[in-house]
Amino acid sequence: MTRVVRTRADLRAARDGLPGPVGLVPTMGALHAGHRALLAAARSSSGSVVTSVFVNPLQFGPGEDLDRYPRSWEDDLAMCEAEGVDLVFAPDVAEMYPHGEPAVRVVSGPVGARFEGASRPGHFDGVLTVVTKLFQLVRPQRTFFGEKDAQQLALVSLLARDLDFAVEVVGVPTVREPDGLALSSRNVYLSPTERRSALALSRALTEAASAAPGGVSNALAAGRAVLDAAPGVAVDYFAAVTPEFAPVPATGFAGPARLVVAARVGKTRLIDNVAVVF
Ligand code: AMP
Repeated sequence: MTRVVRTRADLRAARDGLPGPVGLVPTMGALHAGHRALLAAARSSSGSVVTSVFVNPLQFGPGEDLDRYPRSWEDDLAMCEAEGVDLVFAPDVAEMYPHGEPAVRVVSGPVGARFEGASRPGHFDGVLTVVTKLFQLVRPQRTFFGEKDAQQLALVSLLARDLDFAVEVVGVPTVREPDGLALSSRNVYLSPTERRSALALSRALTEAASAAPGGVSNALAAGRAVLDAAPGVAVDYFAAVTPEFAPVPATGFAGPARLVVAARVGKTRLIDNVAVVF
């Protein structure tokens, strides 16, 4: 039986009765099969599963899609029920930030200033601030984040490490459409033509990963060729990064890395990434 709570007070009270270990899955709703994979991972390794559905204004910049972000509450709740979620926390903005914009926030630091952070100033401070509040309210033993948002996953791991949250941060592999497109709540914005163009992101990553044995520059050139050939794809960044999201140097690097891409397709900004070893 899935219980829905709307207030922080009800969340705290309900959490106290949950058998541990408690697994937390934070989301912004508009749930799809990517979110379902997180819920399933949490269900299979936790005594209780708590998920949050909250579109966090703090992590949206001016001119971004906060006002039109997709919402599908009935379907979201049905998925939570089907996946055996125990508790859904779905506050409104005034409940989450009762004093208005928080006077104190978490600073995401240098890792939060690169790539997504460079394109979306303040984004990761907003993410880490709301995740910190959720950690305080839910006190989970484990929390589940998608590799789809790899920089966010890296930063939440650093948040737990550096600010001593006793929570294990678990990464869940990216769920894709059969043709390779990474599932995203924002895919609903894409027209059929844009949807075809958007395939260039996953194709570029696949081509680049295949060329990775030939070195960083080779890999990036192979991926860039795919992106350049795609109509209507405006690349924001395409890079190889270390696990802490520093750019991989062109020579002298050996070890695990990630190829990351962000691009605008029409008005929709999409991101994707894949793990590689150089
Ligand atoms: P969001 O609702 O977009 O904030 O995403 C909530 C969580 O779902 C985050 O941890 C995301 O990384 C994760 N997620 C989103 N899309 C996918 C996907 N295609 N595969 C796996 N996890 C995903």
